[in-house]
Amino acid sequence: MTHPEHQRRAYLRALGIDVWVPRDADEPAADEPAADEVAAAQLDWAGLREAVAACTRCELAQSRTNTVFGVGNEAADWMIIGEAPGAEEDRQGEPFVGRAGKLLDQMLFAIGESRDSVFIANILKCRPPNNRDPKPGEAAACRDYLDRQIELIRPKIILAVGRIAAQTLLGSDEPVGRMRGRAYDLDGIPLVVTYHPAYLLRSPSQKQKSWRDLCLAMRLYAEGCA
Ligand code: URA
Repeated sequence: MTHPEHQRRAYLRALGIDVWVPRDADEPAADEPAADEVAAAQLDWAGLREAVAACTRCELAQSRTNTVFGVGNEAADWMIIGEAPGAEEDRQGEPFVGRAGKLLDQMLFAIGESRDSVFIANILKCRPPNNRDPKPGEAAACRDYLDRQIELIRPKIILAVGRIAAQTLLGSDEPVGRMRGRAYDLDGIPLVVTYHPAYLLRSPSQKQKSWRDLCLAMRLYAEGCA
């Protein structure tokens, strides 16, 4: 089995080895590990992007159009974590670009932030077919990419939107309605759970609760900055 050049480069970078590319470079050796066998914890932003783009850790690699790495400020104070790309996100390679994304943009605007000031990522980097829930094995396979993003960004506050994000991040099986409205701690980073914008589109009467969650997140953020 051979591996594309970008996988080889990501692997070598992860090992801290400078990559020299001779003009007449041969194909990589057949026994070289794939980039996605490298622990994401060792990667810098460029290596992480390459590893995600080349990832074949789970079966979603076969059905995706694009991986959806995440978008925004790599030094953001706020990190927003959703569930997984949908059809439009899969097409464009960017998170939250559909109708739910427009509502998320408005939520960010309401707290004085924007897509460019925060960093938006998902539990999964690839779209589950027919927008089904992520399988636990898929979330587990993808987890160290997200953990590394959190580590590199070091956000001051994390907003988990929706059940899947909240339960996966916190290792809980509580319904989102019980998890919201409270302050959690994710390895030293305050985390607030709120409803997924897609749910708020279906249940606009819950927007008020979601606004209270955003206010809680703003308070925790301000306390962290004090
Ligand atoms: N829903 C999510 O949770 N994430 C996206 O990127 C799009 C829709």
